[in-house]
Amino acid sequence: MKHLPSSSQTIVIGGGIVGCSTAYHLAKMGQEVTLLERKKLTSGTTFHAAGLVGQLRSNANITQLLGYSVALYNTLEAETGLGTGWKMNGGLRLACTEERWTEVQRQATTAHSFGLQMDLLTPQEAQDLWPLMNVDDVIGAAFMPTDGQANPSDITQALAKGARMAGAQIFEDTKVLDLEISKGKITAVITAQGRIACEKVVVCAGQWTRDFAKRFGVNVPLVSMEHQYMVTEPIAGMPKNLPTLRDPDRLTYYKEEVGGLVMGGYEANPIPWAVNGIPKGFHYTLLDSNYDHFEPLMELALGRVPALETAGIKTLTNGPESFTPDGNFIIGEAPELANFFVGAGFNAFGIAAGGGAGMALAEWVANGAPPYDLWSADIRRFGRPHHDTDWVRSRTVEAYGKHYTMAWPFEEHDSARPCRKSPLYDALKAQGACFGEKLGWERPNWFANKGQKPQDIYSFNRQNWFENVRVEHKACREAAVLFDQTSFAKFALKGPDALPALNWICANDVDKPVGSLTYTQMLNDKGGIECDLTIARVAENEFYIVTGTGFATHDFDWISRNIPAGMNCQLFDITSANAVLALMGPKARHILEAVTKDDVSHEGFPFGRHKTISIAACPVRVLRVTYVGELGWELHLPVEYASAVYAALMQAGAAHGLQNAGYRAIESLRLEKGYRAWGSDIGPDHTPFEAGLGWAVKLRKDVGFKGRAAMQLQKSDGVKKLMACFTTPPEVILLGRETIYRNGVRVGWLSSGGYGYTVEKSIGYGYIRHDAGVNAAFVQAGKYELEVAGKRVPCTVQLAPLYDPEMARVKC
Ligand SMILES: Cc1cc2nc3c(=O)[nH]c(=O)nc-3n(C[C@H](O)[C@H](O)[C@H](O)COP(=O)(O)OP(=O)(O)OC[C@H]3O[C@@H](n4cnc5c(N)ncnc54)[C@H](O)[C@@H]3O)c2cc1C
Repeated sequence: MKHLPSSSQTIVIGGGIVGCSTAYHLAKMGQEVTLLERKKLTSGTTFHAAGLVGQLRSNANITQLLGYSVALYNTLEAETGLGTGWKMNGGLRLACTEERWTEVQRQATTAHSFGLQMDLLTPQEAQDLWPLMNVDDVIGAAFMPTDGQANPSDITQALAKGARMAGAQIFEDTKVLDLEISKGKITAVITAQGRIACEKVVVCAGQWTRDFAKRFGVNVPLVSMEHQYMVTEPIAGMPKNLPTLRDPDRLTYYKEEVGGLVMGGYEANPIPWAVNGIPKGFHYTLLDSNYDHFEPLMELALGRVPALETAGIKTLTNGPESFTPDGNFIIGEAPELANFFVGAGFNAFGIAAGGGAGMALAEWVANGAPPYDLWSADIRRFGRPHHDTDWVRSRTVEAYGKHYTMAWPFEEHDSARPCRKSPLYDALKAQGACFGEKLGWERPNWFANKGQKPQDIYSFNRQNWFENVRVEHKACREAAVLFDQTSFAKFALKGPDALPALNWICANDVDKPVGSLTYTQMLNDKGGIECDLTIARVAENEFYIVTGTGFATHDFDWISRNIPAGMNCQLFDITSANAVLALMGPKARHILEAVTKDDVSHEGFPFGRHKTISIAACPVRVLRVTYVGELGWELHLPVEYASAVYAALMQAGAAHGLQNAGYRAIESLRLEKGYRAWGSDIGPDHTPFEAGLGWAVKLRKDVGFKGRAAMQLQKSDGVKKLMACFTTPPEVILLGRETIYRNGVRVGWLSSGGYGYTVEKSIGYGYIRHDAGVNAAFVQAGKYELEVAGKRVPCTVQLAPLYDPEMARVKC
């Protein structure tokens, strides 16, 4: 019996595939790491996984991470000498409706964008690869040759062996009971067998993670759900190397196993498990097979694989797995507690993700940052609603049930709504608002006409709201609109060192007089854009910070973490205190003048300034900014005044054509104006120079700021990718992720796609990549095409905004 070490730099908690992979990668990076498993390795969820390993996701970096798993699984057996059951037998995906076929063709294009081979097949070609299936209802299929399958337990044991070979220590039957935390710092883990001093913990405790983390104030929004698959006896004629098969229209997946088939699926009415807590002693444990619940899937499967009629059923495995509200896993350093890392919530693709997730976590632990932008899986993407387990469960049930349903463009969630409401919610609803949801907030997406139902009707063509948004867009360009943007995250930074702290964190110069506004990025040490926000200097020692709804937790964490040690200032989240109304359009000034006695003339209130003015007896902090390319102001006001100020503006605006408008109009307007969106166009992997935002970097000022060295270097060396704007005729529908070809060579993909109603074109933004360097001349010298749903279409390219912002100034 080995003795626990008295200390270890990093402790990994949990010996499933994710914990073992994390320990493997940490050890290989030369880190001192100890893995502690409560029972036996794989005894949680890993041992009962089906073992399909697919790679394609809608996000390039998550796809890259899954691709890393495949590369690792290709070599792991040779490295460790342990069998892994890994076979790169490819993955097939079927389409049985025209709309699904469009979705699959778009997925193939996404794969091409991300550098993966995915071939579109006829039903016959698909059947040649998978002879057991009936293809009567199949319209087409896509095949990814590099997908595969593995034996989950074996691959985990191989990772554990590899970890030990590289110096990690692994202890089974060692439950972590507690953490020792002193002055906000983790100092040790406490186990039944003793204490181990440590600096960092990585919690890879699967479905046990939420409760464990909660004890230390860390929110990990996952819940357990039942998931079933059946295993058949051998089936005659089963080909060797049968690819894995996903049949989303029949909600099912398949893989070959010892001459028989594994078949599982995602029911529309999934069953949450352990609602009152995971029972004690749950290890190497399965749930009772639920044949009744599985029957509808079985019926769907029989239509696809007639041999199942007669195949003997060996088992119907029912195992719990942790699922999350948005179907993506949860990774990263907890915003609530430094050095507390999480890798959990793998939504039934933990075997596929395990290799890559362990690599990413190890890098994050060792270097303080992930290897690349993992925002869509980042633990900081969550916020207030995710603290409530019932809310998390409701949304997760929906996400699970939609696993194989069509992933429509612009699709919104239905469950757990409404949750967070602006004070104007009821008034806007009464006027036909069709709401979308972000971080629990209800936000008007568009407004229905009288007699029209405010409800999205999804399709891959122009959707039912297309003409409504045209009207809102036009009103913004020609008259004025009001957007309710109350959901914006707002922070106050106060204290004697607020200015030097913020000027260190911001790439742009915030050392401007009180009353100034600054649009700025916050950069990491590689110059990547971590935050993109607007900052108002409201007093000598106080700043008001406004950022996107979804970035509340992330941006708060980034700012507070990067306040230099010893500086005296405090950051407060004041999101709930203020409503926000954005009054935008060429008539905005006339309307504002009608509701306030304060000077809002161009001279008295120039662009890039803010001041507090009186409207309807309310002190309103008004920011002269725009995200739509028009004259406009953001009005930030205490929530209790929101109704009165809204009413005053609408009354005064009636004569000027003021109308309500929603987020879909904002998107169309900002695409024309060329504003970048964080999370799609810009993020930690892109620098301001690459994004065309170099003008907002204070390199000319002799002042230090985070990311400066990288920016300086890039300024002299030039960039290897550059964001450009692409347009196509309106009938080509751009949604994002379409492949960009320059002179016939793949150079990138669209990070955003949409439609511009003023320019009457489809619009996309994306980076043009070229290792030898990219500049304006290189961009303009190319001939471009976009791959859209599998077809190449010509497009135009430009670097300047499509809609000239100067036009807006001229108009006002
Ligand atoms: C029926 C089914 C089919 C699936 N099919 C697939 C598939 O085909 N492809 C795929 O990619 N994925 C699949 N999955 C998902 C996959 O199994 C999981 O995503 C993956 O196993 C999760 O691994 P993990 O390491 O996060 O969690 P786990 O394997 O649960 O590991 C967590 C470990 O933490 C330990 N632990 C908990 N608390 C403590 C503590 N306090 N101290 C020490 N140790 C602790 C537990 O004992 C456990 O061993 C499937 C899942 C199910 C249920």
